[in-house]
Formats: sequence, C-alpha cells, structure tokens
Amino acid sequence: MHVLKAKILTCLIGAVALSASGQVNIDNVINVSQTERIEKTLSSDEMKGRAVFTPSIDKAADFIAREFKSIGLETPDNSGSYLQEFTLLRSTFLSATALLDGRPQETKNIVAFTTNPHLVISQDSGYQKAYIRAGDNFFSSAFKYVRDDKDYLVLVDSSFSKEMHRMPSFKRPGFKQPHSVVFILTNTDPVSYQIEVKHDISKLRLANVVGILPGKSKANEYVIFSGHYDHLGIGKPDARMDSIYNGANDDASGTTAVIELASYFKQLDRNERTLVFVAFTAEETGGYGSQYFSRQYNPSKVMAMFNIEMIGTQSRWGTNSAYITGYEKTDMGAILEKNLQGSKFRFYPDPYTPQSLFYRSDNATLARLGVPAHTISTSKMEEPPHDEPNYHKPSDEIGTLDLTNMTEIIKAIAVSAGSIVEGRDTPTRVKTEELRK
Ligand SMILES: [Zn+2]
Repeated sequence: MHVLKAKILTCLIGAVALSASGQVNIDNVINVSQTERIEKTLSSDEMKGRAVFTPSIDKAADFIAREFKSIGLETPDNSGSYLQEFTLLRSTFLSATALLDGRPQETKNIVAFTTNPHLVISQDSGYQKAYIRAGDNFFSSAFKYVRDDKDYLVLVDSSFSKEMHRMPSFKRPGFKQPHSVVFILTNTDPVSYQIEVKHDISKLRLANVVGILPGKSKANEYVIFSGHYDHLGIGKPDARMDSIYNGANDDASGTTAVIELASYFKQLDRNERTLVFVAFTAEETGGYGSQYFSRQYNPSKVMAMFNIEMIGTQSRWGTNSAYITGYEKTDMGAILEKNLQGSKFRFYPDPYTPQSLFYRSDNATLARLGVPAHTISTSKMEEPPHDEPNYHKPSDEIGTLDLTNMTEIIKAIAVSAGSIVEGRDTPTRVKTEELRK
C-alpha cells in the first residue's frame, strides 16, 4: 500500500514537472481570442495606421513592448528596454555652387547625394570622376553610383536635363552615408573644379521592438521570428471608407503571430537556441528596420529566420496552408513540412516567383548573407479576383481577416519550428555565390 502510494506520488510529481517544461496545450496559448485581442489593438483606428515618424507608431511599439514584458521575454543585451532605437538622416537641400575650370555653374544643374551638411570638394579631394553620356540609361547609371560605396563626381551629359532635375525627388531619408555623390549637368570634362553644397541634416528616430528568450545549451545560436508593425498611416479616403490605413493584414497579422509565438515558446520552455522575437519598423518605407536589426547579428550565428508577412487571408490553396518564399534555396521548408506530417496543414513553395518576393521582404538582408531566412505568407499576388483586394487600402481592416485560419497558421509555425528551436535540426544555408550572379 505504501509502495503504491509512493508510486502514485512520483507519477503526480512527474506530471507536474512535465507541464512546467515541455507539455503545453498549444490551444491554451495560441487561440482565436488571443489573435483577435492583439489584431484588434494593432489595427484599431486609434493606432492611425502606424506610420513611421508619427506618435501613433510609438503607441503600437509600446503595446508590443508591454506584451513582450508580460510574456517574460528579456530585453536585448539586458538594456532594460525592448525598443531597439536607431536614426535615419534626412537631408534638405539649402544651396550649391560649382566652378568647372573656373566657370560658374547653375545651381539647378548640381545635385548631391550626401549626409554631409557642408560638402566642399575639388579635384584634390579624391573623388572618382564618372560620366553619364548621351544615350546611356540615365537612372540605372545614376543609382549605380549612389548605391556604390565610393565618392563620385558624375558629369552628366546635358541631354539629360529633364532626368537630372527629377533627381532630388528620389532622395529618401537613409542611414548615415559614408560616401557622397555629386552630379553636375555639363558638356565639359573639367581639369579643375570647386564645388560647395549645403544641406540641412535632420535626424529621424525609429525603433524596432525586440524581445529575447535565451537558449539553454546553444545560447549563441539564434532563431528569429519577425513581422513588421509599421504601415501607411492616414491617406486619401476610399469612396466607401475612412482615410485610416489600418494594415490589419499588412502586417499586424505577422506582428500578432510574433507575439503569440513568443508566448508559446516561453511557456514550452524547450528552446536550446536563443529565440529573438522582433517587430520591425519602416518596412513600408524601404526596409530600414530589418536592415538595422540584421546588422546587429553575426549572420553565421543565425540558424533560421521566420519572417511572417500577411497571413490574415486564405492562401490560393484555401484554409490550413501558407507559402514560403525562397523555398528551394534551403531545406528549411522541408524541415517544417516534416514536422507537420500527419497534420492537416501544408506549407507550399512560393507560387509567385516572378515577383521575387524572397528579395522584397524583411528576410532579404539576412538571406543575402546566407541565413536560411524565409517569409511565410498567404497573400495572393495574381490578377483580380485572385489578389488581395484590400492590399494597401484603407479597407485592410480586421473584419476582412479569417482569424480562425490565421490562428491555425500561427500554430503550424509553432509546431513546425520545434526541431529548429530545440536544436535538433539546422537548415542548410542560402548559397550566397548564386545570389551575386
Ligand atoms: Zn505593405
């Protein structure tokens, strides 16, 4: 009798221990009511479309940070804040003068891409001279020099006066540029030159929201779960709608997934690898949030990235399915499918490859560095009616989402990521030599 009692007690203790570690009923953590609560908050009119450089996006960031805190995630580098802040620089043109072989040039024929507020250069400044000649493709040549990392003086053939005068409108805020490019419209090739350009440089503050779940035995190997929380803000009203671009699908849905996955993996407590949960900013304005975030990691330590973008609608295959961009570039998709065997859920390779989605989302920076970094989505990208009718419209509201299906997708990501999170599977890497071709 005593022995039996002891056995029962051992079993009970065993059961309790199991539920504390490794035995979580997924439906208690990832369910429609959680999905709805988070989605509703992020896509509410109060968030005013979560546009960068507005107080409303700060409201969204605070909400996500509070969620991370209540889940029990750690802050990055134990900084005490979930906000990963960084700045972009916006340069506003003030004045420009140039002498080419002593001859003054018109201000409107001088355009500089620089984050230096007071640029003064001459033939002795080490700028490489380049030319855009009559008949060249103006914009592709021009942006090749802007994207390169050297200082250039570009002499532009005067036949491009119209294109040249459109250049200032292509200037966008960006990270601090280590180099400057000066374009001058002229038909001469000067031996000597003196150029002076002044800009007002203002700092624009942005923030990703990042929460960490430290790994148990492989803490220096990272698995990233991400979505972007910014959207388009307030714009022109649609005929039938208000003017708030709620972005319920784009990408409050991905952000909702990140929060629910964080909660699940925290409770599951089986991550041998360190899990990083991140809500990116400024995806809609050029992917600045993911670019900044990606630079904080040694890519060789990032074992996988699950970027989640627009999962609120049914995919082209209907319910319980989603696609993975860049599927064939690593075996991560195959690992996820293996872990879903016997379930009703299917992951498919991205069917819209001509649109290069793999390179157009927040996974791209790390993928280009070899990380198995993929985007999971249900977004339909064909001609109407096989598209997303509310994409980038004020009508991208919670009422248009299938929250039950979205919850099933989040659960499928949670289950399928298990062996990677627990360190049992390591996806192959993107071959970076192929990407450069
Ligand atoms: Zn978008």
